[in-house]
Amino acid sequence: MVKILAIANQKGGVGKTTTTVNLAASLAAMKQRVLLVDLDPQGNATMGSGIDKRELPVTIYQVLLGSKGLQECRQRSGAGKYDVLPANRELAGAEVELVSLPQRETRLKDALQAVMVEYDYILIDCPPALNLLTLNGLCAARSVMIPMQCEYYALEGLSDLVNTIRKVRAHLNPDLEIEGLLRTMYDPRNTLAQQVSEQLQQHFGEKVYRTVIPRNVRLAEAPSYGVPVLSHDKLSKGTQAYLALAGELLNNAAKPAQIS
Ligand code: ATP
Ligand code: MG
Repeated sequence: MVKILAIANQKGGVGKTTTTVNLAASLAAMKQRVLLVDLDPQGNATMGSGIDKRELPVTIYQVLLGSKGLQECRQRSGAGKYDVLPANRELAGAEVELVSLPQRETRLKDALQAVMVEYDYILIDCPPALNLLTLNGLCAARSVMIPMQCEYYALEGLSDLVNTIRKVRAHLNPDLEIEGLLRTMYDPRNTLAQQVSEQLQQHFGEKVYRTVIPRNVRLAEAPSYGVPVLSHDKLSKGTQAYLALAGELLNNAAKPAQIS
């Protein structure tokens, strides 16, 4: 069965897009059929997948508003070997226009129904806000992956996100779970990062992925070539880390469900 993951954190610049693009490519390299959904008007995941956001005939904006079908919007990331629902700044308008439409929170969920059987993983790159677009991501997903930097304010922001996830579960999507917390841009020599990382493990235990994404310049360079890091530098630490994360996800999915 397809796994639908929202990659979300309302804090900006924590590595959501880097994680979505490179996890998509890593899962695809492991023979998984992947759809990446760009839910951010910045269109960074679109560009990072090698698709020019300025030359899109149809974007996810039209899909959410219901004027185009998902199949017309979908494109292939050549370098990444996965499909993409691309976005650009047009999507910023959807925030306002969606408000007056019926089922405004479940528009993405409804649109994905038609293609769900074609994929093993659908990864949704959310914008840095707890807005209607992110809500659409959280309603469409079964679980949330939260990338975060191990710094002082990280835990504070996390409680807002966890509260939002609770509210979404109570009112809109009872199946939503926290898939895991991902430590990004990690520098093991930084004492504060070590301390925050320990606190995370104390609070969230098993929910913290074993895989840690290190700060790695190759990960920052790859988007300028419009490719995932796997195609940019196969041997880099960034590539290895995202392959390990994909392996961890596949392993977790293979485990029998825990009785709680
Ligand atoms: P936004 O909230 O604006 O959508 P984001 O959470 O999607 O941001 P990214 O765009 O993935 O974050 O990353 C922010 C910046 O940090 C980018 O320039 C990216 O290239 C860089 N970056 C992300 N992860 C790493 C890493 N592990 N090592 C080095 N640079 C990284
Ligand atoms: Mg982003």
